[in-house]
Amino acid sequence: MNVEKYTFDAVIVGAGGAGLRAALQLAEAGLRTAVLTKVFPTRSHTVAAQGGVAASLGNSTPDHWHWHMYDTVKGSDWLGDQDAIEFMCRKANEVVIELEHYGMPFDRTDEGKIYQRPFGGHSMNYGEAPVMRSCAAADRTGHAMLHALYQRNVRAHTQFFVEWMALDLIRDQDGDVLGVTAMEMETGKVAIFHAKATIFATGGAGRIYYSSTNAFINTGDGLGMAARAGIPLEDMEFWQFHPTGVAGAGVLITEGVRGEGGILRNCNGERFMERYAPNLKDLASRDVVSRAMVTEINEGRGCGPNKDYVLLDITHLPPETIMKRLPGIREIAIQFAGVDPINEPIPVVPTVHYQMGGIPTNYKGQVVVPKGDDPEVPVVGFYAAGECACASVHGANRLGTNSLLDLLVFGKASGETVIEDIQSGNLRLKPLPKDAADLSLARINRLNTATSGEPVADVLLDMQRTMQKHAGVFRFANLLKEGVERILQVEERVKHTFINDKSMVWNTARIEALELENMIEVAKATMVSAEARKESRGAHVRDDCPDTPEFPNGRNDKEWLKHTLWYREGNRLTYKPVHLKPLHPDTQPIALAKRTY
Ligand SMILES: Cc1cc2nc3c(=O)[nH]c(=O)nc-3n(C[C@H](O)[C@H](O)[C@H](O)COP(=O)(O)OP(=O)(O)OC[C@H]3O[C@@H](n4cnc5c(N)ncnc54)[C@H](O)[C@@H]3O)c2cc1C
Repeated sequence: MNVEKYTFDAVIVGAGGAGLRAALQLAEAGLRTAVLTKVFPTRSHTVAAQGGVAASLGNSTPDHWHWHMYDTVKGSDWLGDQDAIEFMCRKANEVVIELEHYGMPFDRTDEGKIYQRPFGGHSMNYGEAPVMRSCAAADRTGHAMLHALYQRNVRAHTQFFVEWMALDLIRDQDGDVLGVTAMEMETGKVAIFHAKATIFATGGAGRIYYSSTNAFINTGDGLGMAARAGIPLEDMEFWQFHPTGVAGAGVLITEGVRGEGGILRNCNGERFMERYAPNLKDLASRDVVSRAMVTEINEGRGCGPNKDYVLLDITHLPPETIMKRLPGIREIAIQFAGVDPINEPIPVVPTVHYQMGGIPTNYKGQVVVPKGDDPEVPVVGFYAAGECACASVHGANRLGTNSLLDLLVFGKASGETVIEDIQSGNLRLKPLPKDAADLSLARINRLNTATSGEPVADVLLDMQRTMQKHAGVFRFANLLKEGVERILQVEERVKHTFINDKSMVWNTARIEALELENMIEVAKATMVSAEARKESRGAHVRDDCPDTPEFPNGRNDKEWLKHTLWYREGNRLTYKPVHLKPLHPDTQPIALAKRTY
């Protein structure tokens, strides 16, 4: 097959919030910047974000970035890297105001300031009371954000390659990254994108689960590409289940609904969160609420004929508030649950939502891997931002609205680092290895020449069901062990998938087969890492690691306060330390308040 070559200063894979924010930084600095995306930029999953973006602007309640940092560290169950968390919380106000100046249509308070709503786990004065920190544009914050960023990129002459699917990372014999191979989806043509810097912003992989709030394109391609190129994946055992997916459909009902006063009720009409989290109640962090809901259901207090969901009630809110602040949610409830939330509560269940782990990076957006004694050595030419990256600001559990913030802060930071690295002469266009496109061509060739094998959809479904059953909200030692075996069996089947349609033009069957090859890497990383982590922390809760006086909530800081690194080769695991300064699990938050900057 003929392989064309394009050359750029920087190539960015992904046009969601993270990719567009990075691209803007580079294009405005005059660098030749290409953005590859499987879908039109404004259809990236960021468009679905509803609730808001966190920043301690303090427009309606007092706020401080120290409090935001403390909440994020605590929310991460101490697994977050504190240098990255500090960087994100300190930068939040700057990037949000910048976005406002780019034209983002935020809702307004009566004084004309950016409207902010409360969100789970975000508090005032180190956990004392909920704070209003989530900057929102009704319940369509991601939509507004993505459009503002896209328009700004058009103005900056970013070059978009729309409906191009990146296939593999190109590394040379030094391990440096020189770009990617990609396929034009319309024609099936393969090309090499050769660049000084490559930034991955490919988003999440929620589609490895059966029930997910994620878009169909969220297949973890960046993680698959990184894993195949020998880069480890960090903390993949931690998946966030959002408490309120519409029962049966998975579509998300934003936490902003509870921020506006929504209440979860069991079949007795009881506001059960009062028992599980007396202070924050329905706005406790997502892992706490999800587990409380599953417990209610497991103990027979679920609703409906099968007692398999709970109810989210906003019937006590004035209809005007629902129409003004939550119009999209009302539409979703009517369309997907058949109820008008003005009059009736919405049936909801916990649904997979967000991956806390990803490609290991530092707070500058550089991809870092262990080398010798140093656990974090940058890979020359390789950067990552957004949900595909693990900075790690979310640790074992992400607070709502911190992801949109992560996209802005680390999208911008990765762009700034690339500019610095190019201007300082650290990055240059290295010659491509002769076999640069061989792996991608071999993968495509296998699909094109196979005369028999299993349909992609069958293997995909078994993978998703395995993940849902064996690595769900609650985890069981025996199910995890069996899950590892099962997922390795699914991997064998992925190697023997078969597509009937071999045509070149807009062949979605081929694309789905290639996506499955990425998803299986994420699934293996998740299952193997989860089986190995013998404690409960954040979103990873094991039945054999319960709450005891020695290990409150099942968390074992002595042995497990460390990041997992999973390598594709041999399913090998190693671990690296958490950046634990200035806070320590035993420290009072006052240590942060007293710190001078
Ligand atoms: C329903 C929903 C609601 C949410 N609400 C909120 C919220 O209110 N607040 C909050 O903070 N977070 C929220 N989140 C989380 C947050 O929206 C996501 O984590 C975030 O938008 C991810 O952005 P991203 O830029 O990393 O990736 P995405 O927006 O997912 O974009 C990924 C991009 O990568 C491209 N891509 C992927 N693979 C390839 C490939 N092989 N080749 C080329 N291109 C590729 C895609 O085309 C796309 O452009 C929500 C998530 C969901 C699912």
